[in-house]
Amino acid sequence: MQSLNPEVQVPISANCAHQSIPVLNIATVEVDRQLHICNACRYCEGFCAVFPAMTRRLEFNQADIHYLANLCHNCGACLHACQYAEPHEFAVNIPQAMAKVRRDTYAEYTWPPALGQLYRRNGLTLALATAAGLGFFLVLVLAIKGTLFPGPLAGNFYAIFPHDLLALMFGVVFAFVVLALGMAVWRFWREVSPPSEEPIQMGAAALEASEAVLRLKYLDGGHGEGCNEESDRFTLWRRYFHHCTFYGFLLCFAATSVATLYHFILKLEAPYPLTSLPVLLGTAGGLGLLVGPTGLLWLHWRRHPKHGDSDQRPMDYGFIALLLLVSLSGLALLAGRDTGSMALLLALHLGAVMAFFLTMPYSKFIHGFFRSAALLKFASERRQPDRVRMGGE
Ligand code: SF4
Ligand code: SF4
Repeated sequence: MQSLNPEVQVPISANCAHQSIPVLNIATVEVDRQLHICNACRYCEGFCAVFPAMTRRLEFNQADIHYLANLCHNCGACLHACQYAEPHEFAVNIPQAMAKVRRDTYAEYTWPPALGQLYRRNGLTLALATAAGLGFFLVLVLAIKGTLFPGPLAGNFYAIFPHDLLALMFGVVFAFVVLALGMAVWRFWREVSPPSEEPIQMGAAALEASEAVLRLKYLDGGHGEGCNEESDRFTLWRRYFHHCTFYGFLLCFAATSVATLYHFILKLEAPYPLTSLPVLLGTAGGLGLLVGPTGLLWLHWRRHPKHGDSDQRPMDYGFIALLLLVSLSGLALLAGRDTGSMALLLALHLGAVMAFFLTMPYSKFIHGFFRSAALLKFASERRQPDRVRMGGE
């Protein structure tokens, strides 16, 4: 067993006594310290899922802390409510401490593991450089072929890039992304949710967790008024903008899926009319991905400096910037698909989409998966006896 802090004893979770996972780094040691204070105080029990999950434990091992850190959605409420926050000597700041651990979990469970360091690089630069590089490459290919400005093609993208080429390129990348994300979530789940001797009603737990994810339930702050952003005032804007982003992404995904069915099953080839289902879904999704990330960017700029971890801003901005590039270039392509600029707009949009896919498993995108897994763990844990019996939910 190892600890960077020689004074820190290796804690063993009360409900996972068979585990002996060491506390490994400064960030988890700090969360461990603060959670012991919270566990004695418990003022914030009604705010979110973190506190009821915390009260089921007397000690916190690394797996517990990774789980709780991903259950926290950084609303800031417990910082603004805390009587032990600075200038108190206890200096409790749960949102910030949890955020630091959260980033460690992204890096630690990434697959392949060697790419985990990408979370520590400058995410904004990486995202923009990837999108610009791929877009430039495609523009160059078209310029060399002499098809960069071919004249109006009535929205026929496949006259520029053949369908089979696009399907192959994006199919390979998509398969890799699914594998990398699946492996990361599985590695996370395997650590935070070891086999239990108690029977678990996973079906009911999965339903509860799905509802929490789809409604973004905990972004209402537990009282329906929302999160704290720049001050003590509660606001629901973060929940609204997350909804726009989340459902915007799903609608874009649905548009691509429907277009694939049209092409292979119904033998209907693009371009599709503006009133067709793929175009309507894609337009609605694109608008969602424009409004949501713009709003999240605005909230980021206004946030209280003590919320979260400022070192992670490039990662957050990189993810938001890519979402905006995808939506802006997609909507521009829709507007200009019957013009002579279509090939240029298509190359730039494909570059942005490819960059988004390639960086997906190594960007802030992963937070949705880890949070969903943590919510599933929370929902399943609630269905098991509380061995500590010190607190309620
Ligand atoms: S964040 Fe502060 S007020 Fe809330 S439970 Fe912890 S110590 Fe208590
Ligand atoms: S910041 Fe919000 S979500 Fe995180 S522990 Fe505090 S109240 Fe819960």
